[in-house]
Amino acid sequence: MNNIGYYLNGKKKVAIAGHVTPDGDCIGSCMGLWIYLQDNYPEIEADVYMAKVSPIYDFIYGIDKIHDYCSEGDQKKYDLMIALDISSYDRIGVARGIFDEVPEVLCIDHHKTNNGTYTYFYNDPDASSTCEALYRHLEYEKISKQCAEVLYMGIVHDTGVFRYSSTSPETMRVAAKLMEKGIDVAKIIDETFYQKTYAQQRLQGYVMVNSSLYLDGKFIVGRITREDRKKIGVKTNEIEGIVSVLRDTIGVEVSMLMHELDTGEIKISMRSKALVDVSKICMQFGGGGHVRASGCKISGKSMDDITEEIIPMIREQLEA
Ligand code: 5GP
Ligand code: MN
Repeated sequence: MNNIGYYLNGKKKVAIAGHVTPDGDCIGSCMGLWIYLQDNYPEIEADVYMAKVSPIYDFIYGIDKIHDYCSEGDQKKYDLMIALDISSYDRIGVARGIFDEVPEVLCIDHHKTNNGTYTYFYNDPDASSTCEALYRHLEYEKISKQCAEVLYMGIVHDTGVFRYSSTSPETMRVAAKLMEKGIDVAKIIDETFYQKTYAQQRLQGYVMVNSSLYLDGKFIVGRITREDRKKIGVKTNEIEGIVSVLRDTIGVEVSMLMHELDTGEIKISMRSKALVDVSKICMQFGGGGHVRASGCKISGKSMDDITEEIIPMIREQLEA
C-alpha cells in the first residue's frame, strides 16, 4: 500500500528510526516523515530516534527534538515503528530496543541487501534514495515546503547531486515536484552537500596525499586513524563524501575508505564506477548496501590485512 495514511490508521504513538551514523538520506527521510506527520496527523505523537547529527543539518525544522538515546520507558511506548533507510535490521541504531518491542514495524528502504523481516516492508532498490521511496507514500498536496526541503536534500545526498547511476528519470521527476514547493535548491545543495569545514577539507587532503593505488590503479584506498581524526579535529559524523572523491580518480574502478572508530573497529566504505558489485564484498564482512556504494565494519584486523583480503575479491570481479 503506497499511502502512509494506511499504516497510521488507529495509531497514537509512532517511533521513526534511522540507521547508525545517519547520512543525508537517512536524516532527510526521517525528518521529512516527522514533519509530514506534524503537519497532517497532529493527533499522532511521533518521535525520531537517531544518533547525533552534524551541525550542517541544524536548519531542519525539528532537528533539535531528535532522541539520540532510547530508555526502557521508550521501548514500551509505541504502536508502530517506521524504520527508514536502515539497509539491515541490525543497523537500527539507538531505537533498537523499540524495534524489538513494538507490535508493528513498517520499513521503507532502497537497499537490495536488506533481508530483514518487518510487519510491512517496502523496499525499492531502483529508488535513488529512501527519500524518493518515501515520497511515493506521501500525498503531494500534504507535503509542506519544510518537508519538501529535507526530502530534496536526501535525494541530493544519495545521488551525489543527481550524478550517480542510481539517478533515474523518476528521480528527476520527484525532485522537480519537490522544487515546485518553492524550496531553495541551490542553498540546500551548497550548504548541506558541498560546503565543508576547514578541518574536513584538511582531512580530505590528508586522505588523498596518503592514499594508495592497487591493481594497476583500479583500486584506491584511503585511511583515517583515530589519531588522524583527533589531530585534524574532525568528528566521526563529519567524514561523509571522502570515499566518493577517491572514486573520482581517473583509472580507478573501486575506492575504499577505512576509518578507525572510537571503539577500535574499522568502518569500511566502498564505491565503484561500473564493473564491481561492492555490496557482494561488504556482505562477506557482514555489511551491505548497494552495487555501487556499500559499507561494513570489521574488528580485530589491521587496515593492511583488510586491504590484502579485499584486493583478490576485487580482482576476481574485474576478471570475471
Ligand atoms: P557508507 O559507505 O556511506 O557508510 O554506506 C554506503 C551504503 O552502504 C549506504 O547505503 C549504507 O546504508 C550501506 N551500509 C554501510 N554500512 C553498512 C553495514 O554495515 N551494513 C549494511 N547492511 N549496509 C551498510
Ligand atoms: Mn539511502
